[in-house]
Amino acid sequence: MTAAAATSSSPFETITVTTAKVACDGNSAEGLGHPRVYLDLTADGTIVCPYCSRTYVLAAGAKIGHH
Ligand SMILES: [Zn+2]
Repeated sequence: MTAAAATSSSPFETITVTTAKVACDGNSAEGLGHPRVYLDLTADGTIVCPYCSRTYVLAAGAKIGHH
């Protein structure tokens, strides 16, 4: 097997987070920014930003409070 390249083949970024609420303002460094929005991860630990389609995924071991 050949080691996969470190670069992502996905058109959108996947960002690992450790909290159930994330703030996203896009990728302003590439001119793709958007107004900052706060996103709540869903029960399965993921959320896709409706502006820039970045996917936020809860890190393994991190827990979302249910209370
Ligand atoms: Zn975004």
